[in-house]
Amino acid sequence: MARYTGPVCRLCRREGVKLFLKGERCFSNKCALTIKGYPPGQQKRARFRKRLSDFGIRLREKQKVRRIYGIMESQFRVYINEASRLKGKTGENLLQLLEMRLGNVVYRLGFAPSRRTARQLVTHGHINVNGAKVDIPSYQVKPGDLISVKEKSKALALIHNTLKRKKSTDEYSWLSLDKAKLEGRVLSLPSREEIPVIANEQLIVEYYSR
Ligand code: SF4
Repeated sequence: MARYTGPVCRLCRREGVKLFLKGERCFSNKCALTIKGYPPGQQKRARFRKRLSDFGIRLREKQKVRRIYGIMESQFRVYINEASRLKGKTGENLLQLLEMRLGNVVYRLGFAPSRRTARQLVTHGHINVNGAKVDIPSYQVKPGDLISVKEKSKALALIHNTLKRKKSTDEYSWLSLDKAKLEGRVLSLPSREEIPVIANEQLIVEYYSR
């Protein structure tokens, strides 16, 4: 299945929760979910939110997390398989693996307003890992890695504007950020409490163990 390139607000409306796919707009009163809080393509709002089956609940949870991180189904399965091979809880491992994707770390560091834009920054070659260009958004970073903006890209207004809006440099305890140098370090693997994704990862594991 190809990567979804349509209007992302539809995805939030489909899931019925904010997935924060559009940066600043998600925090404003222009958020489509705030304006139209019913699923796309559904004319009769009275029918909004049918009772879901157990399968439906698990499916929606999986789709929600997949959409938050912008991952295709086939890739998501790979992450689930990898998470189940690792020690510890599969659901927690899954979220850790997703958080450690380079595109996500660039977003968490505040270099981009959304994961989608962070992905573009990476694919366009603006990001270095430990001093070497890495243009693969799914690249798994490790504790100790240094993520920096390439010297030639340090003037990009997008990065500076996004960083200006960032409330604090220590928003995530597993990352450290040097705003002046436009670089950040991965200090550790994030624990579940440090991953601000409202989802029940156990339901996702159950979905795949059918
Ligand atoms: Fe979702 Fe953001 Fe669009 Fe709101 S503005 S519907 S949170 S992507």
